[in-house]
Amino acid sequence: MKGFIFVTVLSLILFPLKGRSEIIAQTTSLSEQEIMLVNWVESQQVALLHDLETYVNINTGTFNQDGINKFRDMLEVEFKSLGFETSVQPGGEVDLLTCKSRKMKFADHLLARRAGVDSLKVFLNGHLDTVFAKGDEFQTITIEPDGRLKGPGVLDMKGGLVVLTYALKALHHSGRLDDANITIFLNTDEEIGSLGSRPFIEELALKHDVGLIFEGSRDHKLARHRKGLGQARIKVTGRESHAGAAHQKGVSANLELAHKVLELEALTDYSKKTTVNVGTIRGGEKRNTRPGCAEAFVDLRFVNNNEGLELQSRVEKIALTRYTHYPDFPDLPKSEVWAILHRPAKTIHPITDSLIAEAMGLSAVIGEPIIGTYFTGGGTDGSLTQAKGLPTVDSLGPNGDGAHSSREWTTTTSLMARTKLAAVLIDRLIHQ
Ligand SMILES: [Zn+2]
Repeated sequence: MKGFIFVTVLSLILFPLKGRSEIIAQTTSLSEQEIMLVNWVESQQVALLHDLETYVNINTGTFNQDGINKFRDMLEVEFKSLGFETSVQPGGEVDLLTCKSRKMKFADHLLARRAGVDSLKVFLNGHLDTVFAKGDEFQTITIEPDGRLKGPGVLDMKGGLVVLTYALKALHHSGRLDDANITIFLNTDEEIGSLGSRPFIEELALKHDVGLIFEGSRDHKLARHRKGLGQARIKVTGRESHAGAAHQKGVSANLELAHKVLELEALTDYSKKTTVNVGTIRGGEKRNTRPGCAEAFVDLRFVNNNEGLELQSRVEKIALTRYTHYPDFPDLPKSEVWAILHRPAKTIHPITDSLIAEAMGLSAVIGEPIIGTYFTGGGTDGSLTQAKGLPTVDSLGPNGDGAHSSREWTTTTSLMARTKLAAVLIDRLIHQ
């Protein structure tokens, strides 16, 4: 009920924002209670940075179950100490449709809940995994000469998880979590598209009033809307034969895949902001053997969901079209495809806009002001939640850049400012 009132009131406040291309910061000032929250966070800088160092130095590449389990267990202890009931949810597995046809299992996800009475239901979502696999060279946090913190996940999104955790600690310390209605869901497979966790996220989205996600931000701005994302795996089976003695008895999977790659890349249309990226191709085993298997892994991005569906069907059609023909082997090469739109486009939402305006106003008072918004081709789980009707701000983590590369960085100032902001923002949501 309270959620409904909140939504209605916000919609009214928001009405003047409709149609604006830029969001204007909502003027605000901090109450004494909020100043106490901010001061408490300020007193925790050493502990916060220590935790960030610990978390970043544990490798949590998506398929490193041991590392993710260790990290998840540490956060579970934290949330329990804040009065949350916790449980793990099955990570599941996915068939990668490759020449080796491997099934990959995901580590279990973490769910933490505080069920309050008659309070707005807040959904806090994040991911435990990073793009850096166990053997990657980029494994530890360092402090650069300019004071920046560099490390795998400092921005995406162990920094964000520290922001979330310390914001909740601040609220717990002040007794402000009592009666709060908060669910935290941390998945283990976000970096490959939340293929196993999507049903959990979508179900939780339907049960809450507002969503906050602490993915990193850039240029001191928040993401307002995002492209939709899809992915496709293509496997081509040919016929191996001796490249010298029996060339004609072979069917080249590589040649067939090469035709498909040219057609797939040609689907890119910058005028529509639609892109197709054949990110990886792999095929054959030996120089002197006609290649019997080849595979491709393809990334799709689109501005609206209808274009996404059309793009998916065009990709599937190209994947299944036979471009090369062998009279002796009329059924070869054989092609298979697996394609999915794993993130819908995140469109502008009036209530999300109002939350962004409030966050901008708060940041102007708290420090490290958020100066605007941006549209991005990158996706987050906020695209899933908002598509289910849950207004979601999804880049409330620290400011920085270089995510998914060995240049990934953030700053202590930003971590501290965003933690203070998160504490006050969540406090306002659960106590309005
Ligand atoms: Zn992320």
